[in-house]
Amino acid sequence: MPQPMTQPNQRLIRTAWILEKQTAMLVSHALEHIQLELSTVDGYGTAGDGTGRSSGDASSVERAGAIRHELTGSREQIRKDIDTLVQSVDDFDGFLRKTLGNRVPRHIPDLCNGQKYEGWLNLWRSGSKDEANGWADATCRGIAGPSGLCLRCLPRANRWRERNGLPPIIGSEVVS
Ligand SMILES: [Zn+2]
Repeated sequence: MPQPMTQPNQRLIRTAWILEKQTAMLVSHALEHIQLELSTVDGYGTAGDGTGRSSGDASSVERAGAIRHELTGSREQIRKDIDTLVQSVDDFDGFLRKTLGNRVPRHIPDLCNGQKYEGWLNLWRSGSKDEANGWADATCRGIAGPSGLCLRCLPRANRWRERNGLPPIIGSEVVS
């Protein structure tokens, strides 16, 4: 008798769908909205310089300061929440793989992930000639090799390491 096919967890499928179809777009709209509101509120002078427009009396400067504070707070919160979400999915994935040990099905490969290497928060900007350009690609969906990085991220990480005086990653380790 054939084994019944293992079905993916439907709650997670739904959550992934929300993230992809809604949250990802809402985040961008929210950040754009905050940026726009901030530029509007900046028209009322920056707190402390006292050189606002005609309406720049103390109370309106104060009010603008409070609004600015709230907006930048929301922006910070959004960035923090994204970090938490992404990290928690990564951690959960790692936990499940560990639980399965060597029984992780082959069609669920490890994705490229550079978290264990220096500079993984320094994002790479495509086409940048800046020496300070990072190497990490937070959007990479490549399949990890032995190093944990894919074939595109690994050479980029190694070029970055060379520029920063770090020994290269070869195979599954850093070779000094
Ligand atoms: Zn990659």
